[in-house]
This record gives sequence, structure tokens and C-alpha cells, in this order.
Amino acid sequence: MTTLLLKDADLLVTMDADRREIPGGGVFVRDGVIEAVGPSASLPTQADETLSLAGCLALPGLINTHHHMYQSLTRALPGAQDAELFAWLRRLYPVWAGLTPEMIRVSTLTAMAELILSGCTTSSDHLYLYPNGARLDDSIEAAAQIGMRFHAARGSMSVGESEGGLPPDRLVEDEDTILKDTQRLIETWHDSARHAMLRIVVAPCSPFSVSRSLMREAARLARAYGVSLHTHLAENDNDVAYSREKFGMTPAAYAESLGWTGADVWHAHCVKLDEAGIDLFARTGTGVAHCPCSNMRLASGIAPIPAMRRAGVPVGLGVDGSASNDAAHLLGEARQAMLLARVGCQPHAEPAAMSARHALELATLGGARVLGRDDIGALVPGMSADLVAFPLDTLALAGAAVHDPVAALVFCAPQQVRYAIINGKPVVAEGQLLPLELPSLIADHNRLARQLIRSTKS
Ligand SMILES: [Zn+2]
Repeated sequence: MTTLLLKDADLLVTMDADRREIPGGGVFVRDGVIEAVGPSASLPTQADETLSLAGCLALPGLINTHHHMYQSLTRALPGAQDAELFAWLRRLYPVWAGLTPEMIRVSTLTAMAELILSGCTTSSDHLYLYPNGARLDDSIEAAAQIGMRFHAARGSMSVGESEGGLPPDRLVEDEDTILKDTQRLIETWHDSARHAMLRIVVAPCSPFSVSRSLMREAARLARAYGVSLHTHLAENDNDVAYSREKFGMTPAAYAESLGWTGADVWHAHCVKLDEAGIDLFARTGTGVAHCPCSNMRLASGIAPIPAMRRAGVPVGLGVDGSASNDAAHLLGEARQAMLLARVGCQPHAEPAAMSARHALELATLGGARVLGRDDIGALVPGMSADLVAFPLDTLALAGAAVHDPVAALVFCAPQQVRYAIINGKPVVAEGQLLPLELPSLIADHNRLARQLIRSTKS
């Protein structure tokens, strides 16, 4: 049995039912689970390890609900910098065809290191390409190495160009293989227990890269094992046009027709979710991963997040793949969500459309709900001990944190954490990532990024 005392945060944001913010707050942890939360003087004084959060704002670890971590190898790639979704994919598919298992593992470590330093303690990752012997197990190994709570989504593509899909034929898999491998991953890795560090998600890539029957079979498989479902939906106008032309309905209606609605399903983007779609998602508890930077980068549009929230749709945040959001900073994503909601508010732009505290709610409680978890997203007794602490005495927060440290964290330039605790273990302390050496990871990652581009040209 091990105990950890985190004490003396300048302010502790709990995200509990009363949204308590506790000056001088702290958390007492036993075996990775929060046992007590309150003013530091009210907590037990003896613990195996004690960390002072003085000078910091502490809050629940942020939750990332959508990513493609392998894309860290192809950030800001010439030819894909100024393209919309479909053209961007066509430029990148041939490059990604060169991915190797080592590239998957190293890029996942890189993406996770970046996320953790940005305040994120739980992430999903949607891997949908398996060339050259790559497996989802490569990502899973990386998550275990760095100690991040992980929802590994077994993506897939089965409809290639010759059948009217978007990806080249050499990148698609046979549907039987996809389902068998997904089942293997669930049986090998999925942990349904409370405080699980690893869950598997069933995640065909998108309606324009898999068949109707794979979507149906995927839902059947996921429900037989009680695991979540995830895909991309209604990302931009072309995506909606494809759905109308191929299936004769909107993306939301298509999802419903396949059984892809419910509290165990979340869809990335939903920029073009119409009123009927919002109503459907609210009624069924279907979740949305909102990825504001990616939506701006690809000029996809502005997702109607305030309308979704008013209707009661579960919404979390996603940085999305690093090739369409070259800055995988989750706190930065919360900031963009807040700003974009303001200009995107219908029928008129509205500065009060999303507050800083609402943006942090999306990044914590919202993400937890979308991933189907009731054990993360808040600092409350009985929850997993996932906590991050940002320093308040920085240049970026000067003149802001003194007035309102919570708002300062979101309004000012995104900072890196001083501490990150995941499952009761310090993963960042004094601003240093503990599980691995960043300079050698970056050198490895850059070597592989160059190798990947060389393999495309040869
Ligand atoms: Zn995506």
C-alpha cells in the first residue's frame, strides 16, 4: 500500500458537483485512488511521498478524446499545409504507407510526452493504418512505458480507391482480418475495471473508408464485449456530400441507421452536425470529440458546440492528429475551443458563448463522459488520482493569475505543467518528464520522420 500527499496548491480546482475551488488545497492518495480532498490542513500529514504544489494551480488531469499520434512524424509537411481534408488525406496516405512498428512506438511516445506536459493524463489514440507489420500493440507498449492512461482505438480502412473509397488500395485491410484483430486486442488488453489504465475501442476510420457492413459488425463486436465505439463524422461539407451521395442521408442519420449512437459511442469533429443530428445525439447520449485547431487548420468550419451543450450532447476535446493540428497541446486546445465558440456562436458572435471554466469542463468532465468513464475528470474521493499542476508565477500569467488563476490558465498563452500525477504516480516533477529522456526521444523521432519521407520517395 502506498500513499501520496499533494498539498498547498495556491488553488485546487476540483470539478466536483459544486465546482469547488479550494485555496491552499490538496489531495491525499492511496494506491492510485483519491482518498481525501480539501484544504491542506484538513488532510493526513503522513504519507510515503509528499509533494508541495505551492505556487501552482492544480486541477484534474485533462482528457484527450481524439488523436492520431503517428502523425507526429508528418507535421507541417510541405504539400499538406494548405489543403482541405480529402486533398490533405490524398497527399499523406502514400507517406503513411511507409510507417513501421518502431515509428508507431516512437511517435506515440513523442505525442504522449507532448500531451502530458500540456496537462493531459488520459488520451485516446485512433490508429487506422497497419502497414509493414505495425500493430496497435506498438502504441499500447508506448503508453505503458510513459505511464499514460490510454484508450487505444483499433481503427481500420476497408474501402480503397478502386471501390470508391478515399484511401489507396494498398492501405486497406480485409474486413475479416480487421474484426479478428480487434477481437484479439480486446481479449488481450481491454480492462473494464474502475481505474483501468488501458481500454480498447472499436473504431473503423470513417464512413468514406469502410463499408456499411463493417460499421454494423464493429458495433456488434463492441457491444458483445462492452467496449466503446469511435469514428470520424460530419467533418466538413465534402464529408456530408459523400454521405448524401453514397448513402442518401446525412452523416448523423447514417450513424443511427448502423447502430452508431448511444452512450458507448463518440464521434470526432461533427462540425456539420445539423439540428436533427444534435437532437439525436442529445437523446441517445452520443458523444462528440471537438477538435477546434484541426477544424481551423483544414478550414472544415466551426462545430456548433454551444448548441450541443445546450441540448445536452456530451462533448470532450481532442487535439486530433498532429498532421492537422501541429501543436498537440491540450490546454491550448481548451483555449481555442473557448475562442472559436465565441466567433462561431449562432446567429451572432457572442463573447459569453464559452467561459474559461466551461472550456476546462470540456477538457475534464466532458472528456471523461465521452470516453464512458466515471472515475476520472474530477478531484473527488474515490476517483483515480490523475492531477496536473501549472505554475502561476510565469511571464505568460503575470498580471492575470493574481486576479483569477483559473481564467488566466485558459486566457493566457498555454503553459506546461510543473507536476503531472497519473494513477497516483508522478510522471512530471519540477517540469521534468520522469519516465524518459526527452532529447534522445526527439532525436529518434526526427530520424524516423526523415526515414519515413525517404521511403516515400524511393
Ligand atoms: Zn481524426
